[in-house]
Amino acid sequence: MKKSLLPDASICNGCAACAVVCPVKAIQMTPNDQGFAYPQIDEEHCITCEKCIRTCPVLTPPTPQLVQEAWGAVTNRKEELMRSSSGGIFQLLASKVLTRGGVVFGARFDSDFNVVLDCCEDIIELSKFQGSKYVQCSENGAYVKTLEYLKTGREVLFSGLPCQLAALNNVLGNTSHSAKLLTVGCVCHGIPSPKVWQKYLQERREISGEEKIIGVNCRDKCLSWYDYSMSIMFSEGKKYSCIYKHDPYMRGFLQHLFLRPACFHCKFKNPHWIQDITLADFWKVRKFLPQLFEEKKDGVSLVLVHSTEGKQLLESVTDDMKCFNVPVNKAMVSNPASMNSVKNAPYSKAFWQDYNKYPLLKLLRWYNYRSWWKSFINLFPKWRHNHIRDMVPDSRPQSNH
Ligand SMILES: Cc1cc2nc3c(=O)[nH]c(=O)nc-3n(C[C@H](O)[C@H](O)[C@H](O)COP(=O)(O)OP(=O)(O)OC[C@H]3O[C@@H](n4cnc5c(N)ncnc54)[C@H](O)[C@@H]3O)c2cc1C
Ligand code: SF4
Ligand code: SF4
Ligand code: SF4
Repeated sequence: MKKSLLPDASICNGCAACAVVCPVKAIQMTPNDQGFAYPQIDEEHCITCEKCIRTCPVLTPPTPQLVQEAWGAVTNRKEELMRSSSGGIFQLLASKVLTRGGVVFGARFDSDFNVVLDCCEDIIELSKFQGSKYVQCSENGAYVKTLEYLKTGREVLFSGLPCQLAALNNVLGNTSHSAKLLTVGCVCHGIPSPKVWQKYLQERREISGEEKIIGVNCRDKCLSWYDYSMSIMFSEGKKYSCIYKHDPYMRGFLQHLFLRPACFHCKFKNPHWIQDITLADFWKVRKFLPQLFEEKKDGVSLVLVHSTEGKQLLESVTDDMKCFNVPVNKAMVSNPASMNSVKNAPYSKAFWQDYNKYPLLKLLRWYNYRSWWKSFINLFPKWRHNHIRDMVPDSRPQSNH
């Protein structure tokens, strides 16, 4: 089969559904020069069955489930709230499924701080899935494992990004086992490159002078939910912690400098979601739900319910949270990332051209802070290189608060 029949790099989201279903394992997910994995087809082994095309969620989008209800919500479990990115609702839903004997899938860091999908059967292990990890995660066999659990009659809660949930839906197909599957997706701004993430961690480790990173929290609420921090813990007890608006990686992420190209044309935003429940940050809580405004410091979730199964799951945990109904249209307006793809950063192309030439923190110092004179200099590669070469890398103190 010709590779050109699968979506091109501008719209392939890297979900790996095509590789998982290929009956002769002719597809390998291989990172490109930006570190994003794309399907590589071994044409010699391909038997042209076209199963990959029929399963790809970009080419064959699943039937959407429209939003029926919207809630602003915060868990009553204070410790879990502090571990979560928003209002801690994922932990409540997941622990309910585990207490009923089910299995939960989510994204966790591996020992090198790459992000992988994985599952757990015990509430003690749930914390590894809590908190947003701002880097693309690999599928790690999760779709097939989900099918195996469902076949044994176990309930499964699968949490992840909307494109992964669409991929799972297509991999499972019309199997009757799916009745025991619950899906929880996040509103998704876009996903950064694993290559940039690893380089960032390596340079942070070098600046710290420490041998090993032992923990990372991309949404540390040590200051507050609103002013969250990127925190990196090192082996000898040192900690780097920096409020998101000054951390070079978070600035680059939020300015869309190194997002996956498919995220600029995301096919899995409202009204194309297929999950039972969508979770998001309720940033505009003050305007739309003043009753929960006092919770602003530690986090408030926006919870969108798409199905009867989703509604039942949410109702089963309402005793453990504070929650208030919000009109669906107001909920959508309060969260632009739920409906619109972000736009590519104007400097993204130049950033990637320069990526291998300079230390990342030096490069981000140039590209993260825009000004009219930089826009002008960026037009002339020689001048640009002279400026970047002479820049001092961003070496903020280990902790700036
Ligand atoms: C990459 C990304 C971008 C996001 N962008 C927005 C946004 O623009 N606007 C907004 O309102 N909300 C966004 N969110 C969602 C939001 O930040 C919270 O994750 C969500 O509200 C759930 O919060 P919680 O407190 O209930 O649970 P938490 O414990 O914070 O949620 C953990 C959940 O996130 C999943 N997860 C974490 N990292 C990844 C990853 N790399 N890949 C796949 N799944 C992951 C886990 O599997 C788990 O289901 C984003 C989340 C992610 C991961
Ligand atoms: S056409 Fe069939 S054999 Fe060929 S790559 Fe796709 S799934 Fe694999
Ligand atoms: S979107 Fe997913 S299924 Fe489609 S080609 Fe890309 S990796 Fe394969
Ligand atoms: S923005 Fe869309 S394509 Fe990109 S990671 Fe999120 S859900 Fe997937």
